[in-house]
Amino acid sequence: MCRHLGWLGAPVSVHSLVLAPPNGLLTQSYAPRRQKHGLMNADGWGVGFFSPDLPDGAPARWRSAAPLWGDASFASVAPVLSSRCVVAAVRSATIGMPIEASASAPFTDGRWLLSHNGIVDRAVLPAPAAAESVVDSAVLAAHIFDRGLDNLAETIARVGADDPTARLNILAANGSRLLATTWGDTLSMRRRPDGVVLASEPYDDHPDWVDVPDRHLVEIHDGQVTLTALKGS
Ligand code: GLN
Repeated sequence: MCRHLGWLGAPVSVHSLVLAPPNGLLTQSYAPRRQKHGLMNADGWGVGFFSPDLPDGAPARWRSAAPLWGDASFASVAPVLSSRCVVAAVRSATIGMPIEASASAPFTDGRWLLSHNGIVDRAVLPAPAAAESVVDSAVLAAHIFDRGLDNLAETIARVGADDPTARLNILAANGSRLLATTWGDTLSMRRRPDGVVLASEPYDDHPDWVDVPDRHLVEIHDGQVTLTALKGS
């Protein structure tokens, strides 16, 4: 399934997070190392980030339905996109789901960025008013926005109970908080001197990467990392 990455810390370039690392999202788009479902992530990509230059704390996004490796325009601009808070993803579409830019994470409600790595039966989700796409991840994102990110742990445990085959790895950020859940897929964390990275898989072989156990919530805020077991674990 998809691979995602989040950053919260000092301002860094999108290029340094997504394109430059030897096993970053660019490499993961065609040769992921830890992907359990799907072989590559060629069905689109997205990058969202916060900036003091944007009005009302809303994020900026750049999304596409094409493979990340073919986007020379993004590669040329990414070195000058700099942010303290980034959510990025490359996509391997679930069978039957549309391939369109609006189905690529990150999704947003205007305050939060949210990526979903996994699969969920849309029948267990209430019909949301404002999903960006019919893709299961967009419907799930709308449901999570509706319930509020403060309730992310409860929402994921509930959806996981209603759809026992769901995989529900979420990554979300609002500029000052970075949240993630593990529910059926991989997630790793690296604390750097200048911030924290959460990623579906390590973007290099640095020894500081640690694996987040399954069925947990990770919260990063003010340089503190909190790990909480989810109900149902
Ligand atoms: N189910 C989502 C989609 O089709 C996410 C897939 C994934 O995690 N690879 O886009």
